[in-house]
Amino acid sequence: MIAAAVAVIRSSALRNNLQAVRRVAPGCRVLAVVKADAYGHGLTTVARILDAADGFAVARLEEALRLREAGIGQRIVVLGGCVGGDEVQQAIHQRLDLVVHTLDQVALLEALPAAPLDLWIKVDTGMGRLGLEPASLGEAQRRLGCWLAGRGTLRLMTHLASADVAGDPGTEAQLGQFASLAGAWPGDVSTANSAGILQWSRSWSRPADAGPQVNWVRPGLMLYGASPLSDRPAAEMGLQPAMSFETRLIAVRHLPRGRRVGYGGEWQARRDSLVGVAAAGYADGYPWHTPCNTPVLVAGRRAPVIGRVSMDLISIDLTDLPPARPGDRVVLWGDGLPVEEVAACTGRIAWDLLAGVSPRVMRLVED
Ligand SMILES: *Cc1c(COP(=O)(O)O)cnc(C)c1O
Repeated sequence: MIAAAVAVIRSSALRNNLQAVRRVAPGCRVLAVVKADAYGHGLTTVARILDAADGFAVARLEEALRLREAGIGQRIVVLGGCVGGDEVQQAIHQRLDLVVHTLDQVALLEALPAAPLDLWIKVDTGMGRLGLEPASLGEAQRRLGCWLAGRGTLRLMTHLASADVAGDPGTEAQLGQFASLAGAWPGDVSTANSAGILQWSRSWSRPADAGPQVNWVRPGLMLYGASPLSDRPAAEMGLQPAMSFETRLIAVRHLPRGRRVGYGGEWQARRDSLVGVAAAGYADGYPWHTPCNTPVLVAGRRAPVIGRVSMDLISIDLTDLPPARPGDRVVLWGDGLPVEEVAACTGRIAWDLLAGVSPRVMRLVED
């Protein structure tokens, strides 16, 4: 028994969620997004478990290099691309795919001797973050085509800003613009993150007989078993939480009515109370801002967090639960308590809670 916060990573859930992606995106290839330490689940661990993915996507070169060092041989797409020639050299050497989202990056490549390299040209269709203006696509395509001279492939991608909003007109405009660019594009394309996969596939998927153009989907959050859609629980979509963030009670105390709990004494017992103290705090990635009454599961039952979250500890009101003991399991999110629910209670999003589980939390991989 470990009396500290641990993140139990379920391989079977990750594999199940990859299957769920394939079900909703039939005929597509899947780039499993494993940036930010695979959303806190462990970069190389997740890449090994998801070896059936068609490739991986990371934010930064350094993450891709770590995957190669760990012996991951699949396609790896560096979403941020490169800003220096030395980085491009490493990418070439390690057979990494680069996203090209500025004409500066086109020039960076042109300054180097041509090399076999697969490139993804990213256009900004409305996200307003990374991406070429659609008007520059032709120029980038021509120059990169010349530079590659058949040594590698060019693919086209974009990123959706509000795919989580059903019927969002901005997303419709983005998809409309991308469809017109993709119509004249000879190679593969890629549009959808998790919300795009779950909610917009009718708008971007093409009939199977539409030609050789392959669509690559880029799921992140849904692979980890959380829903990006506020009105559709993950379980309803066949997703299983891949992480159970849990700890143990290390003390159970009777506190008389009137006693205060934690820093600032913000919570005060309105009755004689049984209070549990669990070994997890904001240094583990449990949010400091967590308000009182955010649920945790103690030995499988819901109980409210009380008082302020400390660096290493939280307090829990156990008064209404069957007798609890030090050593009892406390689930902060995961099995039976979706991370989306904790995110909603704490004013956060599932992505940042998962990615925020700190390095000191041991990852335990289970089947
Ligand atoms: C992070 C990211 C994704 C995955 O997003 P989810 O919402 O987690 O599915 C896909 N594409 C790009 C470009 C990203 O940066």
